Amino acid sequence: MSTEHLMGVYNRAPLEVDRGKGARLWSTDGTEYLDCVAGISTNGLGHAHPVLVEAVKTQAEKLWHVSNIFRIPGQEALADELCANSFADVVFFTNSGTEAVECALKTARKHHVANGQPERIDIYGFDGSFHGRTYGAINAAANPSYTEGFGPPMEGFHQLKWGDHDAIKAAIAQPTTAAIIVEPVQGEGGCRAMPEHCLRGLRELCDQYGVLIIFDEVQCGMGRTGKLWAHEWAGMAPDIMAVAKALGGGFPIGACLATTNAAKGMVVGVHGSTFGGNPLAMAVGLAAFTTINTPAILDNVNAIAGYLKQQLVGLQERFPDVIADVRGKGLLVGVKLIPNNREFMATARDTQQLLIAGGGDNCVRMLPPLNLTLEEAQEAIRRFEGACEAVRAKAAA
Ligand SMILES: *Cc1c(COP(=O)(O)O)cnc(C)c1O
Repeated sequence: MSTEHLMGVYNRAPLEVDRGKGARLWSTDGTEYLDCVAGISTNGLGHAHPVLVEAVKTQAEKLWHVSNIFRIPGQEALADELCANSFADVVFFTNSGTEAVECALKTARKHHVANGQPERIDIYGFDGSFHGRTYGAINAAANPSYTEGFGPPMEGFHQLKWGDHDAIKAAIAQPTTAAIIVEPVQGEGGCRAMPEHCLRGLRELCDQYGVLIIFDEVQCGMGRTGKLWAHEWAGMAPDIMAVAKALGGGFPIGACLATTNAAKGMVVGVHGSTFGGNPLAMAVGLAAFTTINTPAILDNVNAIAGYLKQQLVGLQERFPDVIADVRGKGLLVGVKLIPNNREFMATARDTQQLLIAGGGDNCVRMLPPLNLTLEEAQEAIRRFEGACEAVRAKAAA
């Protein structure tokens, strides 16, 4: 076995993963790791959670897949849950985050067509954002390293800068603007949380001009910030929202949520998916959603996040040569480093057996399972501290 026959698009760590349980992962050589990547925010309940394992087993013996030409009870049940616990009235199920974003972008444009304003096609994204890898998603995020070499930029996609209020205002006031797309807390971009008053300001402006707000909560949603949805902290809501990652607890699922009004153009025949919302995915999704959406999990996120933040700020004081900033929200923790983040990640992995994820702006991210215990969090901090020491020693050598 080798990576010879895999398309070489990933920068893979030299770690062959074998099995997982809770916040632990074991490599094929038997080394135990503390997993603070959690599938990049996907395994919200850790590995092999008994409720999810049971849901997969039970459904696998019953029915895996049928076409969306039939009614699928699991889909209706999960959509009911999502709508009862959000701003949304309707849901479209996908297999991934980028497909959920794709559906959100299409929903926004179709809304304006249904409203008799087909000229509203412009979609504004923000710098530092990540929305996935389909054409619509890369154009919405407009990160040159993901768009270059893939043909001409798609028409009607534009970029805004965080904090450039004049440009944001001008964009929303344009009569050709369809929607803006925002991650309330950026993940890949380096754990930047958009200030709550800015999210409320966007809502007011968009309402004034009839522009839709799309939130991409693929990474920051599903309890990651300590509320079910990250935008709840701001006391406002979008018109359309993309969700995925932890919604499946490790099983591929995505969902595009919308209000009835925002989705008014999404009528029979305009969109679809073969696998999206299949019975097996829905069984796992329903189990993951109802387990995560409980005070036990959300309270734990807030408690553990508070502990990690306090400890990391303490480490920043002791290691000002290593840690530049501690940021993020809830258990979407970002640590901006002074040494190279990829080297730091390798050191943490090889010397402390702590798995952390990279991010923009030279950050590493800690995205542990939402049910991480205090003991595990203490261990994560000890291992992080060990990595800081190892990196400092390396720099001095
Ligand atoms: C991961 C991610 C996506 C893409 O999800 P995929 O399942 O990889 O397609 C989109 N948006 C955000 C914010 C993400 O973190």
